[in-house]
Amino acid sequence: MPRGGTFVRGGGPIGSAAVSHRIVTLPGDGIGPEILAPTLQVLDAVGDFAYEEHLFGGASIDAGGTALTDEVLDACKRSDAVLLAAVGGPKWDTTDPDVPRPEQGLLGLRKGLGLYANLRPVRPLPALYDASPLRRDIIERTDLLVVRELTGGIYFGDKTRTADTASDLCSYSREEVERIARVAFRSARSRVTSVDKANVLETSRLWREVVSDLHGREFPNIELQHVLVDNAAMMLVSSPRHFDVILTENMFGDILSDEAAMLTGSIGMLPSASLGESGTPGVFEPVHGSAPDIAGQGIANPLAMFLSAAMMLRHGLGLPDAAASVESAVDKALDQGLRTPDLGGNASTAEATQAVLAHL
Ligand code: NAD
Repeated sequence: MPRGGTFVRGGGPIGSAAVSHRIVTLPGDGIGPEILAPTLQVLDAVGDFAYEEHLFGGASIDAGGTALTDEVLDACKRSDAVLLAAVGGPKWDTTDPDVPRPEQGLLGLRKGLGLYANLRPVRPLPALYDASPLRRDIIERTDLLVVRELTGGIYFGDKTRTADTASDLCSYSREEVERIARVAFRSARSRVTSVDKANVLETSRLWREVVSDLHGREFPNIELQHVLVDNAAMMLVSSPRHFDVILTENMFGDILSDEAAMLTGSIGMLPSASLGESGTPGVFEPVHGSAPDIAGQGIANPLAMFLSAAMMLRHGLGLPDAAASVESAVDKALDQGLRTPDLGGNASTAEATQAVLAHL
């Protein structure tokens, strides 16, 4: 299955000078390969790309004992963008810290490529308002972006463990806060809501200070608001329209972005982008996991993967028109009634793909 090692297009290897956009594809596990393959059909309908496929996650553990090999990381570094489906599954579930886990591949990729900014747009589509657990009048016209810091904070701090105690260190530097805040201000149309826990945490007090300084220096025309994380969690379900860009640290962003995801009704609809310094390839992937419960049935919703490819076109390859074409084709297919089982319909992955391709 993997085509690792050479960028291929139209069934054959491609010389380095001929290709403008080289994409490493990581199908991963579960429904990953089922949603990644049709995504290449969608991409081929809007441009000319070369792909290099590699094992990742559980599939890579099975092949060689590690979720991300040095060779695959090097291939990602040499690419223009990385398109990732999903990893994980019950086969590799373990609490033994010495046994490799698929998710280590995700952390290794983020770290190896220096991906410190995670962008998750949340825009419930009118055709799917009734799929949301929230009332239509609450979610109508919600269009927000969560900008989450991805390589610092408590997930990466030193850990200690004895039989009866454990600790996780949360630390942030001024530089780490400033660079993610800059991404948020640049992405904002009108307002950045910076989310922290400054009434309790020292890291949050530094966060607030650095975000305010940067705002005053470089982005005085964007409105800045500071909100405590508990309040932000309530506002997301009571008044999601309030938000334009939500800027937050790693763990708060992990939790709030999943909460925001539910506004759209299905996790099968949400794309994400993880970006580093300009010049390094970004990683583009759906928010959902490998959905082992439906893997192999041909019924996975491929739309989050298509929309992740659109984010890749816009943020990773500088092709905003191609990105808009894909997004508009997804919108039109849904308007015309496309519904996979997670959205309450019975369209297969292949039918969903054809419905989108019909508008490209
Ligand atoms: P999940 O997102 O895989 O699935 C949650 C539920 O949503 C399931 O019922 C699933 O069928 C459904 N679902 C998800 N994506 C769908 C799609 N495209 N179309 C239709 N239905 C979809 O989350 P989980 O069940 O908690 O985790 C399953 C595995 O995925 C675990 O091993 C977990 O560690 C892994 N995971 C990986 C990532 C990633 O690769 N970035 C993210 C989250 C979870």
